[in-house]
Amino acid sequence: MLHFGLDNSYARELPGAYVTWQPAPAPDPQLLYLNEALAAELGLDPLPLRGAQGAALFAGNALPSDAEPIAQAYAGHQFGGFSPQLGDGRALLIGERIDVHGQRRDIAFKGSGRTPFSRGGDGKAAVGPMLREVLVGEAMHALGIPTTRALAVAATGEQVFREGALPGAVLTRVAASHLRVGTFQFFAARGDLEQLRRVADYAIARHDPALATAHASGTPARYLGLLHAVALRQARLIAQWMNVGFIHGVMNTDNMTLSGETIDYGPCAFMEAYDPAAVFSSIDHGGRYAYANQPLIARWNLARLAEALLPLMVASDAEAEVQRAVAQVTEVIDAYPAMYAAERLQGQRAKLGLYNAAPADDGADGALAEDWLGLLHTQAVDFTLAWRRLADAAEGREDALRSLFAAPEALDPWLTRWRERCARDDTAAGPGPRGERALRMRRVSPWLIARNHRVEEALTAASDDGNLTPFDQLLAALQRPYDETSEHAAYAEPAPAAVTAGYRTFCGT
Ligand code: AMP
Ligand code: MG
Repeated sequence: MLHFGLDNSYARELPGAYVTWQPAPAPDPQLLYLNEALAAELGLDPLPLRGAQGAALFAGNALPSDAEPIAQAYAGHQFGGFSPQLGDGRALLIGERIDVHGQRRDIAFKGSGRTPFSRGGDGKAAVGPMLREVLVGEAMHALGIPTTRALAVAATGEQVFREGALPGAVLTRVAASHLRVGTFQFFAARGDLEQLRRVADYAIARHDPALATAHASGTPARYLGLLHAVALRQARLIAQWMNVGFIHGVMNTDNMTLSGETIDYGPCAFMEAYDPAAVFSSIDHGGRYAYANQPLIARWNLARLAEALLPLMVASDAEAEVQRAVAQVTEVIDAYPAMYAAERLQGQRAKLGLYNAAPADDGADGALAEDWLGLLHTQAVDFTLAWRRLADAAEGREDALRSLFAAPEALDPWLTRWRERCARDDTAAGPGPRGERALRMRRVSPWLIARNHRVEEALTAASDDGNLTPFDQLLAALQRPYDETSEHAAYAEPAPAAVTAGYRTFCGT
């Protein structure tokens, strides 16, 4: 039996926050994917993870000897409605490992069978959606965006029933932790303050250890500090999503992490033609999780975290004490839009090739970015290629950029403004680098994203025909998003408009 060198701090420190459970056996496991680079980062020898042994391990049939599988409890607001008990209905945390950088990482299964939290569900997952987690997660990682990552996908040899019969699979997911806003809502909703404090202290020890040194357990400042730290991480994360055109699709509070990693690649997609109202998820009828709503939803979710943590910030029930605590958390929630805007603008400046602050930061750079996006919107231009071709324009080659626009002359006044601003950036005093603008722009504006039609094509071949070649090829391309190569050219092309118009992603449950 394999020994993984696992620690099980969640199981050890948080009794009452989970149920001990075992994965369902898989009849005929086969390893579809192993992330050897991630295995190496975890300090795991890839050899015993391959082949039949790897298949048995990652399908849940032969757990590492030191695994202590648990289903975590959590609650959550889903599309605005509160469920006091969700929990791992088809997932199990098998343990944690300290990686080669000294970071504690969760190793968890998804699709490993029913648990006490399954409600009506079958606890299973299908090959297609689990391979989607690999493709989109690895694409995000290669783009430099914090994300949970897939270590492996094993087919179970079992059928799962959705709209029809599909091949079943288990995903092994690696995360900085699986603590979610919903984890805190679970204990807050039950009024279990002891457990709430224990989970908050656990989160702080794991993600914000400096807070544990600065403030004793039980003191309000500690939990206010946690809220602030989470808000900052989410501001950074959502700004990064927005600057690559990523739409998560299901930003429920149980899908928002304390770590600031993107989690749960279900009905997600990268936008093609720029449209702030873009929605892909088949279940998001009201457009709650549309592209442009994401920063607002993040704030809404943070307000739910603030409510959940509030009982830890009041020393007594005295009216004045409660008001003081409410005022403090409100201040953090109210500060969120500015935190987000600063992160977003910083990213946009880099994409515009601007590295030194505007002489007087009068909002001109923000307006420059907004006006550019306005042009992309009116002319339905591909978001990714437009930014990328702007880098060519920085070298004086405008043809490729202009050819993306139906009416390129509309671009001219904006290009003039942009060039003037670039010239000022080159002469302005500031901390940023100078010269080689196009090269630097290409480091922050990818050439290649996980285009929806390519993802679907790869998943369909894998799921319907057991053909993993399109998946392997797409994955290889997604790992080099900033390198423009003729080899990967087909992956950089937008889908034909007819495909894009009707594109919907399904929840993948
Ligand atoms: P998700 O939409 O994947 O974030 O899941 C939301 C909730 O539904 C979580 O509590 C999941 O564990 C649960 N869930 C999703 N799919 C299934 C399934 N097939 N069986 C049991 N529970 C599920
Ligand atoms: Mg989820």
